[in-house]
Amino acid sequence: MFSTISKNFFLYVSQHKGLNKAARKWGLKFGAAQVVAGVTIDHAIQTVKELNDKGILCTLDHLGEFVNSTEEALQATEYNVRTLEAIGKAGVNSHLSVKMTQLGLDIDREFCVKNMCQILDAAKRTNNFVRIDMEDYAHCQITLDILRELREVYGFDNVGTVIQAYLYRAHNDVKDLKGISLRLVKGAYKEEPAVAYQDKKEIDENYMKIIKEHLQSGSYTAIASHDHRIIAKVKKFAEDNDIPRTQFEFQMLYGFREELQESLVKEGYKMRVYVPFGDDWFGYFMRRLAERPQNVGFALRGFFSK
Ligand code: FAD
Repeated sequence: MFSTISKNFFLYVSQHKGLNKAARKWGLKFGAAQVVAGVTIDHAIQTVKELNDKGILCTLDHLGEFVNSTEEALQATEYNVRTLEAIGKAGVNSHLSVKMTQLGLDIDREFCVKNMCQILDAAKRTNNFVRIDMEDYAHCQITLDILRELREVYGFDNVGTVIQAYLYRAHNDVKDLKGISLRLVKGAYKEEPAVAYQDKKEIDENYMKIIKEHLQSGSYTAIASHDHRIIAKVKKFAEDNDIPRTQFEFQMLYGFREELQESLVKEGYKMRVYVPFGDDWFGYFMRRLAERPQNVGFALRGFFSK
């Protein structure tokens, strides 16, 4: 009961435009620094260095919500290009993750594709890879269409996306995307029963189904989950089916289950941490609180200590 109320509360607050805007001026508050790696590119690169020193790979995400002007989308594009250049210059090991709504997807499709091309050009120059995060269901088909266009029309092979196991369509999508690097997740948004499983057990079952599908087709697979039960099943499946460890990696969010991250590295698995940064941290932080009420504890401690 409490968990449903708190989930809905934090999801509601995460979408509050006024609070998101105000929070940009606050700096990281309420313990957000535990899950957001600072507000500047320099902060982010420093965090990547520290994680790399522990044998952990990264993917940087410059946070941004509610972009609905071309000016903001161009700024975000430029910031992503600068982030790729900073990664190259520092010689650290990190990919880039982007959200296409931040790059103008809701303004104009072609404008967004153009911005994506600029980012992918920079990634090519710096020998890097860009992952397009998957957003809510309303953006799912267009995201997959643009991914295809970027790869097939523009010839970029350094781009992949994310498939969400809670969607009924996930298994078909994974089959269609055979050969393309995918991050597989359970799914973070609130979707209707018409399009998505609501039951945790069904989501977990579909999650394992799509992981097995992509691994068995020989495609590169990133398993992005903090769920130790899923991780144990993936390890066993890979061993039983002779899937080489070079064909998959585990991914987790910055600040979550650090002991598990480090123990996977010690066991010889590839581990990549998603490192969000930037002054637009509020919505991201509230969604993390919505996902797991236990996280509220550290938010409250952060609130009182700041
Ligand atoms: P859950 O289903 O939340 O948890 C399952 C169990 O794992 C829990 O019951 C608990 O036993 C254990 N557990 C989980 N978290 C913890 C913890 N912090 N400490 C201790 N035990 C824990 N979603 C999208 O929709 N689009 C994306 O592009 C996207 N990208 C992502 C990238 C990364 C790197 C990651 C890690 C997640 C991403 N997600 C994305 C979010 C994802 O869809 C899930 O919402 C989120 O990861 C929660 O699901 P879970 O598999 O981690 O485990």
